[in-house]
Amino acid sequence: MRELSRKLAGIPASATLEISNLARQMEKKGIPVISLSIGEPDFDTPRHIKDACIRALLAGETHYAPSNGIPELLEAISSKISGENGFPCTPEEVIVTCGAKDAIYDAMEAVLNPGEEVIILDPAWVSYEPCVMMAGGKPVHHPPDEKTFQIDDSVLERISPRTKMIVVNSPSNPSGAVLDKRSLSLVADMCTDFDLIALSDEIYEKLTYGKKHLSLASIGDMAGRTITVNGFSKAYAMTGWRLGYAVAPLPIIRNMAKVQQHSVSHPTTFAMYGGVAALTSDQSCVEEMRAEFQRRRDYIVRELQMAGYRVAPADGAFYAFVRVEGDDVEVARRWLEELHVAVTPGSAFHTPGWERLSYATSMENLEEAIRRICRAS
Ligand code: PMP
Ligand code: GLU
Repeated sequence: MRELSRKLAGIPASATLEISNLARQMEKKGIPVISLSIGEPDFDTPRHIKDACIRALLAGETHYAPSNGIPELLEAISSKISGENGFPCTPEEVIVTCGAKDAIYDAMEAVLNPGEEVIILDPAWVSYEPCVMMAGGKPVHHPPDEKTFQIDDSVLERISPRTKMIVVNSPSNPSGAVLDKRSLSLVADMCTDFDLIALSDEIYEKLTYGKKHLSLASIGDMAGRTITVNGFSKAYAMTGWRLGYAVAPLPIIRNMAKVQQHSVSHPTTFAMYGGVAALTSDQSCVEEMRAEFQRRRDYIVRELQMAGYRVAPADGAFYAFVRVEGDDVEVARRWLEELHVAVTPGSAFHTPGWERLSYATSMENLEEAIRRICRAS
């Protein structure tokens, strides 16, 4: 066969998806694996959201839709952003995508020229770097402050004449950190001073435990240079629906629309009606799931700390980022093979020496996983 895409040769498969696939295969063979590897709510999508989708399906919403998304959903997202996130947003400044992941990919394609650099703050979720590279950009990683996981002036050292963009993710996957106003203001100043575009991935905004989520676009003039990415997967337990969105200045949305029109057209039409119900109905389902995640987080962080592990500030999302002795890939392999507990090594997030434990699983599973890990340490 002819040589395939050189661009993809340097891009690894998604570590989070690969490990959870491996855990599933082991389970199929009858090995009792407890998977703390994937970041996916274990709850079912709330009933009223499913009902809205079923109603749309039965009413014949089975055709192509406007490619940026159905007007009802663009309207619902713009009202949510203007009302909750502290910056103005019109429906024209919204695009509905096939999951937040697709929004991130479209954004990179929309903004980057070959060789332009994107600063990625580590530990960073596994798909930012591949999205940058697939769009022809160059990822530039910035190591974390491994105590606070906040951002300080040292990030300015990553700036070069080729820097175009910075990616911010708060609450963070995998560290669980929620960026404070000081960190976000520092990013905002940097973007203004060096004329950068920011991509702010806020998919975990509803999952915080005591700390308040702040949108980067609400600071200073950042709305004019920020692509805010969000979606339905985490807050509404809708991972399989593949529904996300981005809010950005019009020229960026217009470019993202071109990428969407020539790749996927738009997300599934009847699924978008579920999105409308999610945003416009009573939000108590979100709070119920958040409260349950907090209960699990309190448990797992307490137990790990009591066993002598250092845990990053688990103020948001549903991950405990845990410091381990030795090679993190080796530790993850050992935990999987010997303890039958699947976790994701920090190396997958450019931060070796840590393991990411997802607590988006039942309390029963967490108790058993903790028992196994603590017994072995
Ligand atoms: N951003 C982060 C930080 C995530 O953890 C995920 C989880 N897959 C996504 C984006 C993508 O979410 P979605 O399911 O909406 O594509
Ligand atoms: N975001 C989740 C995780 O980090 C889901 C898997 C993925 O899309 O990477 O585990």
